[in-house]
Amino acid sequence: MTINMVNLFDYTQAGLAELAKAMNEPSYRGQQIFKWIHQHGIINFDAMSNLSKSFRAKLTENANLLLPQIALEKCAKDGTCKWLLRMEDGNQVETVYIPEANRGTLCVSSQVGCALNCQFCSTATQGFNRDLSTAEIITQVWIAVRRLSEIAPEKRVTNVVMMGMGEPLMNFSNVIKAMDIMMDDCAYNLAKRRVTLSTSGVVPEMYRLKEHSDCALAVSLHAPNDELRNKLVPINKKYPLSQLIAVCKDYFPKDSKRKITFEYVMIKDVTDSVELAQQLARLLYNIPAKINLIPFNPFPGTQYARSTDVQIEKFKQILMRSGFITTVRRTRGDDIDAACGQLVGNFQDKTKRRERFYKKVGIMVESVSK
Ligand code: SAH
Repeated sequence: MTINMVNLFDYTQAGLAELAKAMNEPSYRGQQIFKWIHQHGIINFDAMSNLSKSFRAKLTENANLLLPQIALEKCAKDGTCKWLLRMEDGNQVETVYIPEANRGTLCVSSQVGCALNCQFCSTATQGFNRDLSTAEIITQVWIAVRRLSEIAPEKRVTNVVMMGMGEPLMNFSNVIKAMDIMMDDCAYNLAKRRVTLSTSGVVPEMYRLKEHSDCALAVSLHAPNDELRNKLVPINKKYPLSQLIAVCKDYFPKDSKRKITFEYVMIKDVTDSVELAQQLARLLYNIPAKINLIPFNPFPGTQYARSTDVQIEKFKQILMRSGFITTVRRTRGDDIDAACGQLVGNFQDKTKRRERFYKKVGIMVESVSK
């Protein structure tokens, strides 16, 4: 078999075992390579000391471990770190690390831009270019783990959320493979409840996800009725709330005690009324749900504003009284534009959406530096 310079970051442990076999080596070599890469952070084949010299030479000839370049690293006062990563084709995406008292969450991107056009999200205004490969997703974790060990050795990645740029369920197989690697005990060994996929509600892919991954699930709901959700999250026109709620109802086995996290953005005078809180409680009645209220994070050109703290608290109390565990997401890293919905990366927009948006709000379009 001829192997055409494969990037080993694209492979799960099982995939590497297959690859080793295809290269006439015992399949356990796959696990050895996998551990070198993800547990030890070694990307130089010559340093993989338990592989034979001839196999190392074969790997050097046929495979690589290509990493994106760190185009920019910024750390905020609150310890949040953001990396702008440059892929081989010049496109750039963002990855954010958010430290908290007992955990460290890495927010990972799944696509270059996003095709979904949610009205309150700045990634959406940037347009869409392409899916990320498995390698381009998992190397975000690899790089964050390594960089943190250098700049802040006390900080660990204990959780991953697929909440960076892109809609992860629109890049299903690459995202599933990358999450497999995150949860593999020979790699990052993250428990299933510590790897969360967040979706805007791509219903058919949610049914598939249930079959293919044990990860935790977050749903970007943002509105409790179709009229408002059609406006804010346009994919709702394709998969309306009745379908979304149906898949959520039986998503986790009844006896598992697992809950879906429903994300709900708090936009002043748009999503934050008492009536909407009551509607939301009725909509989620009977669903094992946690609700996470996200104060809207503004970005240049947006027509929306953040709800007041008083209104957010009022909204939260209604949900709590209805029996829902309700949290308010603390805004982190906003001094480095690393908060939810502020990730923009730097890439060529194939949709022309960026141009149209900037024209509308009167901002000059910058050209993407390649
Ligand atoms: N496409 C996926 C994951 C990316 S977005 C999804 O929709 O779930 C991660 C979360 O940030 C989503 O809940 C998204 O709706 C929210 N978000 C986007 N823009 C925001 C903004 N300006 N302020 C607050 N939250 C925002």
